[in-house]
Amino acid sequence: MEILEKAPAKLNLSLDALFRHLDGDPEWKMVMTAIDLADYVYLDTNDQTNEIIVQTNTGFLPQDRRNLAYQAARTLQKKFNINAGVTITIEKKIPVSAGMGGGSADAGAVLRGLNKLWNLNLSLQELAEIGLEIDSDVPFCVYSCPALVEGKGEKITPIGSLNSLWFVVAKPQASVSTPSILKQIDFCEIQHLDVQKVVDAIHNQDWNLLFQSMGNSLEPITTQKYPEITNIKEKMVKFGAQVAQMSGTGPTVFGITQTESRAQHIYNSLRGFCKEVYLVRPFNLTNR
Ligand code: ATP
Repeated sequence: MEILEKAPAKLNLSLDALFRHLDGDPEWKMVMTAIDLADYVYLDTNDQTNEIIVQTNTGFLPQDRRNLAYQAARTLQKKFNINAGVTITIEKKIPVSAGMGGGSADAGAVLRGLNKLWNLNLSLQELAEIGLEIDSDVPFCVYSCPALVEGKGEKITPIGSLNSLWFVVAKPQASVSTPSILKQIDFCEIQHLDVQKVVDAIHNQDWNLLFQSMGNSLEPITTQKYPEITNIKEKMVKFGAQVAQMSGTGPTVFGITQTESRAQHIYNSLRGFCKEVYLVRPFNLTNR
């Protein structure tokens, strides 16, 4: 039996790292949203063998146990003694190593999909806890809705809708290694943010407050090495974005507007400077 799970990318509207746990993982306080730039993950379960096969439409992604989608299937198989295999086919649309959580999105989609195919009856919260064993962004990707994200990434609190906003997303050429940026965080030095203000702004649909309160504490670390990020941010604002910032550990930059026409203008203007530009809407999996 084959099913298709959509695996939406994520953007960080607010990202703060509070301290480092003894095991080295950061304590996060973030507001994230899913967007409708998504990979398509096809799952074909097989009762004859317990082999996990991963195939993608890219030449460069790992198709073995290094793939986060593989790890998601393997984790479920082991935890619940599943005697079935699965072929996972990933149609990749989310730029890789971009700060949009593409690998985690695929893993989240595998968890949701196999929960159905293997009749595990796990709640989203239970899937999110399993997801944390794979990567810190997987719990959010299991939910894929606007949410406050805390802890090492496992505490997900869905918040209100962003449906009246438009997003322009631009991915500069650089590929950023997330672990190398995380290693460089100096928790006393980085500028901490009032993440709760962003939560309140979304709750009250107060977009001016949202635009004033957003931020990414890791942006100065990444932009030091990749100044083109600042350049694209400035262009986004010049072309009409009400706010623009880096997502995750970068290098992706996104801008927000309240009208489609303004977003379309930014999109058209940026395409002359940046090869990968997308005009997208927020996505809420829990509303489907
Ligand atoms: P994050 O913001 O969560 O750190 P990212 O968007 O910066 O993620 P990804 O696109 O998830 O980065 O890729 C990061 C690394 O993960 C790449 O080196 C890639 O080889 C590896 N990877 C493993 N599985 C996948 C997958 N299914 N899709 C994309 N990358 C994957």
